[in-house]
Amino acid sequence: MKPEPIIHLTPGKRVLFLTKDPELIRRQLRGEIDLQMRDLTIDDLLDDINTDAMTPAWVCFSHKPEDIARDAYAGLIVDGKRLFEHDALINGNFEVIVSGYRKGVGSSRETATQCEVWSGIRIAVAASFAPIHAGNNINQGLLMADHAMLERLQAGEGIAIEELCKGRDAITQLVIQEGGLFPFAKAVARGEIDLPVPNTPKRPMTMGEKILARHVLSAGNRQPTTDNQVYVKPGDAVVVEVDGGYTHEFTTAQVHYFLEQEYGPEYTIKNPQKFAVFEDHLIYADDVARMRPFMPKIQTLRDLQRAFQQHTGCRDFSAVDNISPGICHEVAREYIIDPGDFIQATDSHTCMGGVNNALAWGVGATEYANLVHSGFTQVEVSESIRFELTGTLRQNVTAKDVMLFILLRYAKPQRTLDRIMELTGPGLRSLSMDERATLANMATECSARTAIIEADEKTFAWIAAMRPGVDVDALRARAVSPDPGAEYAGGVHTIDLSSIQPMVAHPGDPDHGIPSDPTNGAFVADVEDTKIDIAYAGSCTAGKIDDFLFYHQVAKEAVDAGLKVAEGVKFYIQFGSQAVETFARENGLLDTFERAGAVVLNPGCGACIGCGPGVSEDSEQVTISAINRNYKGRSGPGKLWLASPLTVAASAFTGHVTAYTPGMFAKELVGA
Ligand code: SF4
Repeated sequence: MKPEPIIHLTPGKRVLFLTKDPELIRRQLRGEIDLQMRDLTIDDLLDDINTDAMTPAWVCFSHKPEDIARDAYAGLIVDGKRLFEHDALINGNFEVIVSGYRKGVGSSRETATQCEVWSGIRIAVAASFAPIHAGNNINQGLLMADHAMLERLQAGEGIAIEELCKGRDAITQLVIQEGGLFPFAKAVARGEIDLPVPNTPKRPMTMGEKILARHVLSAGNRQPTTDNQVYVKPGDAVVVEVDGGYTHEFTTAQVHYFLEQEYGPEYTIKNPQKFAVFEDHLIYADDVARMRPFMPKIQTLRDLQRAFQQHTGCRDFSAVDNISPGICHEVAREYIIDPGDFIQATDSHTCMGGVNNALAWGVGATEYANLVHSGFTQVEVSESIRFELTGTLRQNVTAKDVMLFILLRYAKPQRTLDRIMELTGPGLRSLSMDERATLANMATECSARTAIIEADEKTFAWIAAMRPGVDVDALRARAVSPDPGAEYAGGVHTIDLSSIQPMVAHPGDPDHGIPSDPTNGAFVADVEDTKIDIAYAGSCTAGKIDDFLFYHQVAKEAVDAGLKVAEGVKFYIQFGSQAVETFARENGLLDTFERAGAVVLNPGCGACIGCGPGVSEDSEQVTISAINRNYKGRSGPGKLWLASPLTVAASAFTGHVTAYTPGMFAKELVGA
């Protein structure tokens, strides 16, 4: 709904304060008290309310926001009990919800916003909002205000909508004023909105800026530049065409539902051959006991995805005979993404597409539904940070170690935050495409906007090998490189690959204030003796052909030395895609894994998202994993260490967190 030009509180509606004192929340929910901001301080309010507390994963198995709202804040648990019972937020008759700092941290989960909007919340008040959550609020038409504004509203004052737009780029202001992304897009389609025109003069550009500049939609109206090209700079608000994208069965149902609601059952999408659906995330969920109660809802998600695919004619990567064709990000780089593309998909690891010299990042269901229907989206141009890689990796080090190093050195102090990470240099060119994909994949763990990898002949040859018949000259022509003199607000940093050592990210100790975080980097050599129960080798980060070659390299050495997977350890190896599986079968890798005693799993996501074999089952279990995130609870209740494919495989055979050293098992044999 389009907000009034002057915002007032609605007589009869209530304001809910999420206080640190849970009893105060209970009393507000029971309707016993109504609080005033002037009687509280920001310190009285809950900070860091995360998206998991607002809508835990099980709530997200529902695709209708009205159903999701019924379990709003179901993850806010006090003394083992839900603070918000079923329907509590809806029944409270609230229109404002108030909290402290960093509201909406955690994931990009748009359901967190939906649970409030569909409970009747019109204004969210906080001292600060996590950036992605703020974006979701804007797209859903949820207004955001600070505590001083709330005091004024509660005193009966009206606040101009322009004041709630302060600090936002020009297009975002229009989205807020229209009441969200769908109303904004419809107003654009009706010709009621003049989009801002980029008038940035000629300047050297980064790779990300070049791709966005090429895709600017309102370019025809701009002031001509000296060479008649479009230029952009960080902070510019632009409307850009989207080349392609994809959803998976965790998100497609909502996209389908939103499009039907907004544009009717006969809605269409632009360019269906460049958009796709994947069945990869929940395909093996019934192997996990705590997921079984949700199987009927999961089946509904699958059915609705099929309905969306049939309705739109988009590319279909559904499971066949319950086997996934692979993880969306891996398959998308194999078959969909071209150099120079601008790609949007409903998953935070969409950034992996940057390996093909594309600009790619994840968006929520609303943003995706809007762009897949219209073919364009609005973007604020991000700053960039550049990493020049030199040297070559040591024999026991992989790109995963490089990323764990970047996470520790650059992401932890927030130097990559919301920036486009560019990776270039002679060291990069020494890496295979699969290793480069690992670098792009983990940009989201760096809280970066995305990552983009400079292309070379390896890039074009790899794409051509995956897609026989592709026009390599056309790929080459679309690729971008940074201009000399391009500006990097995050700086240009040289990383000598030969200086990187095997690394892990430790699981932290969330109960004592040390979060489980991928930036918890440490050298394996410095890790105290740590026994493991599970080694997991797979995911979009580490289920590629080269990762399988790493697993095999270690397993073969171990098997040749007469070893099997360590007693008491389960070693799971999962293909990232069917192309990876075909390679492994045709090259005899599976025989070695079988002789080693590893469990080889069908392609797809799985343990990584807590939905497949390889999850931990109790809090004492220790996992070493080649996946990308170690957030508490994501892959079961145990402790999860992140490591490279080589370290994961070596640890599977030693039973402890162990870096791989070539010949390490042969030495054991000699020693025995
Ligand atoms: S493998 Fe894990 S991180 Fe990658 S897309 Fe699947 S669930 Fe997400």
